[in-house]
Amino acid sequence: MSLPNSRHFRVAIVGGGIAGLTLALILERTGVSFVLWEGHESIAPEIGAGIGLLPNGLRILDQLGLLGEIESRTVPLQIWHHINSDGMAISDVEAHKHYRHAFGYGSRFLRRSELLQILYGAIQNKDPVMTSTRLSNIEESEQHSKIVSIDGRWVTADIVVGADGVHSPVRRCVELFVGRDMSETRMAAVADKQTPAPDLANIRSAREAQFACVFGISSPVRGLEAGECFAVYRREATILVLTGKGGIVFWFVFEHRDEADALTEQPTDDTADIENAGRSVAHLQLTTSVTFGDIFANRTSARKTVLDEGLATHWSASRMVIIGDAAHTMVPHLAMGANQAIESAAALSNELLRIHQWELGGITGAIERYTQVRRGRAAAATNMAGMICRAQLCCTGYDHISSSIPRLKFADWMVRALVGFRGAAMVESLPRTKRGQYFDEKMGRFFERLEHRHGQVEGGKMPGLSNEEFLDIFDWAVDWKN
Ligand SMILES: Cc1cc2nc3c(=O)[nH]c(=O)nc-3n(C[C@H](O)[C@H](O)[C@H](O)COP(=O)(O)OP(=O)(O)OC[C@H]3O[C@@H](n4cnc5c(N)ncnc54)[C@H](O)[C@@H]3O)c2cc1C
Repeated sequence: MSLPNSRHFRVAIVGGGIAGLTLALILERTGVSFVLWEGHESIAPEIGAGIGLLPNGLRILDQLGLLGEIESRTVPLQIWHHINSDGMAISDVEAHKHYRHAFGYGSRFLRRSELLQILYGAIQNKDPVMTSTRLSNIEESEQHSKIVSIDGRWVTADIVVGADGVHSPVRRCVELFVGRDMSETRMAAVADKQTPAPDLANIRSAREAQFACVFGISSPVRGLEAGECFAVYRREATILVLTGKGGIVFWFVFEHRDEADALTEQPTDDTADIENAGRSVAHLQLTTSVTFGDIFANRTSARKTVLDEGLATHWSASRMVIIGDAAHTMVPHLAMGANQAIESAAALSNELLRIHQWELGGITGAIERYTQVRRGRAAAATNMAGMICRAQLCCTGYDHISSSIPRLKFADWMVRALVGFRGAAMVESLPRTKRGQYFDEKMGRFFERLEHRHGQVEGGKMPGLSNEEFLDIFDWAVDWKN
């Protein structure tokens, strides 16, 4: 059923990716009226990408009742092999295998399209989710926002949420409206690329991509086990490989971006480019019997994209706010982009549900609080992912990170994870699940005991603990391996 024009909603979501669908699902569960516009003709188009779900994202998806389905389609990651360019092992790290014990949730990889299907499938009333509906304009007034599609349909809403990805049209509108007095004039912002916002350059320079990536999926390769992952450290093009349920292989080839890549904002299927990238790393040895060439030969999909990274300068203006990649884009090395998008959806919903009066002052207050809650964590994840990317590509100034990997102990990996998940958002108005409570208890107890001994842990600072001290503070109860 299609919705009539000119209805009014509490929330208009632009973009039906991971951030938009997560927010839609939370709003449905909490009884807030919404409409969601997705530009593509279907939700969950197959673009051949994998998504890593980590405990911070899974805790929220668990609240939404999706954990069982996700776990049935995935396996927890078991081991990361860090390898140098000669195929020699730098370090084999089993920390991810222990995430279930440490946090209540493992790390799991699945197709992006599968995750979108799971999210969309869980929305009970699909009527407010409209595909083939691409945003063109946003008009702002003191009373409401009006969103207009490129084919002239429109609705009004109390708030517009841009969950429209890295090239976010809503972000362009935000840039146009920042600092304007909404009580005086009713204004229209054109959200297509022909009309760039005056200070868009500000965002572009902050997000200037230094790297390009060919990503793909391959059918199982003999010699690779499900849950096994590989990172090769190399100055030239390099690779990340992760294996999912049934041995399906998700892989990435990372390169320094060249001039030609600057022209392609969206992922491309350029066969020659993809072939060249694959060939340049085909010889890299992952195990004694498997090279990247074996994986590349089994590919079922492959695409190339430039990797944007950074935080948008402005996350909101008037009744508009951005979440997910529109606000914070990171390289894939920490497998955090989608998890941060899920967190942003949860954090925004928390503030929206605190609004008593849906007038401009109440709405902008909620949006500001959301921005304050999320900016720091999103920045930390973006920086950490960028650092790992540069270390893996042996960029000047990052050698100390790759060279420190062999020296990292089990405790170091676990403390990094604990610090990374500390302060993660959840949906405050939905019940905590048993595993969510486990996550909270383990995190709370660990930091309480750690800070009792070592004083307050500031921001992302990571205290150095011996394995013995870590196991004692955490109250570790299962076997582990350094
Ligand atoms: C190669 C690669 C690998 C990655 N691997 C991982 C990983 O392992 N783990 C992880 O957590 N993250 C990963 N990420 C990041 C992750 O994919 C993103 O962080 C996540 O998809 C962001 O979700 P989003 O909903 O904000 O944006 P998107 O998923 O980009 O969704 C935006 C949606 O908005 C729609 N849209 C855009 N413009 C309009 C318009 N005008 N009108 C209506 N709709 C519109 C688009 O069609 C799209 O559906 C990876 C990214 C890349 C590029």
